Amino acid sequence: MKILLTNDDGILAPGLRILGEVLRGAGHRVTTVAPDREQSASSHSITLDRPLRIRQLDEFRFTVDGTPTDCVLVGCHGVLREDPDLVVSGLNHGSNMGEDVTYSGTVAAAFEAHILGIPSLAVSVRDREKGDYEGAARVVNRLIDRLGEWARGRRALLNVNFPVGPASEWGEPRVTRLGSRAYSDEIIEKEDPRGKKYYWIGGAEPTWVGPEDTDCAVIHAGGISVTPLHLALTDEGALAELEALDLTGVAT
Ligand code: MN
Repeated sequence: MKILLTNDDGILAPGLRILGEVLRGAGHRVTTVAPDREQSASSHSITLDRPLRIRQLDEFRFTVDGTPTDCVLVGCHGVLREDPDLVVSGLNHGSNMGEDVTYSGTVAAAFEAHILGIPSLAVSVRDREKGDYEGAARVVNRLIDRLGEWARGRRALLNVNFPVGPASEWGEPRVTRLGSRAYSDEIIEKEDPRGKKYYWIGGAEPTWVGPEDTDCAVIHAGGISVTPLHLALTDEGALAELEALDLTGVAT
């Protein structure tokens, strides 16, 4: 399979390297196009106000001085010059569950593929430091084998999360929906060496809530979570209610 591999942790991230090695070793034609530096929490941002430079590191690996979304666009249209069969984003260092998919550069790269009509996988490992990245990469390879035919030709986007601990302790993949972050984001206020105030967003790890069939519940229980996502953001319930309201005269 022809795969475009990217991430948001940057070209030097071990998760990207390990996943590339495992997928190449399995016989896939993998082209890596990744940001030249960390772009975590860059969300779906795109660079429109300056040129993007590509640097080729070897036959299969390229860096872009931009965001994960830039990498998918430049990768498909500039490097490959044809659509890959699959875009894979990861392995991200840290999970991407619930509302965090809207901040995530990892998931945004998969969303960009989704918009381009290419099947995609966003893959994240819960444990940033000691995660079993080799184990996760092997599971991703088997998932591609198992789901490749189903995903072919459809805009499938699967957000995959791996739990802490070694692969030998993970349960089978569970198909889930997004859970929810129990909002405890701290804003820390401090003073810089010149006496000016600054703020730091986020304190301790967030806690997550959701019933058994959510990504966070499965990850908490030590399983592998597979969540299908799409970009249909329209609130259908509100749409029907608003249509019933009288908006005449608002424009004048
Ligand atoms: Mn990241």
